[in-house]
Amino acid sequence: MTKMPKAITELAAILGALPGIGPKSANRLAVYMATNGQNNAENLQRILSDVKSQVRICKLCGNLSEEALCDVCADSDRDQKTVMVVETPMDLLQVEQTGEYNGAYLVLGRLISPINGIGPDSVNIASLNERLQGGGIEEIILALTSTVEGEATGLYISNLVRDAAPDIKVSKLARGLPTGVGIEYLDKETLKGALEGRRESN
Ligand SMILES: [Zn+2]
Repeated sequence: MTKMPKAITELAAILGALPGIGPKSANRLAVYMATNGQNNAENLQRILSDVKSQVRICKLCGNLSEEALCDVCADSDRDQKTVMVVETPMDLLQVEQTGEYNGAYLVLGRLISPINGIGPDSVNIASLNERLQGGGIEEIILALTSTVEGEATGLYISNLVRDAAPDIKVSKLARGLPTGVGIEYLDKETLKGALEGRRESN
């Protein structure tokens, strides 16, 4: 039985590890790049190196940025007293697109998942502690998916805030969001409603 060249198999393995790409699509993409996609492959190589050299993580909130501080954190017109906790920069973008939120963010990068060995130390939470100590925050809004991981992460953050700064209100998006659906996939109206109808977390 003939085999694919090793480099193709490796490329397919890397592509297959990306979110939303199954093994078949990964193989198809890898083969395409090797056969028809010379230009694509070169562009991809260039853009990957740009992403690596030009994109960083905002030191305050964890959002993607070209500068040390992202646009949101650097914007003095934003209400820095309210901090919305989201999982990914895509979630942040989706909230921004509702046009209904003018506060700051904390982008966790991933959710706490004990079953997968992801503890709080692997999540961008430490910076929240510093922000809480710094004072000035009045409300933390948990905008996390309604999954076991989302709930566990929300609970961890609620407890952390309660211990560090009991005066700070912790709220959650309104109930009734579809279970297991990422914030980035919610349509604007649903997200807007969930934000307006947010309630104190318990
Ligand atoms: Zn930021």
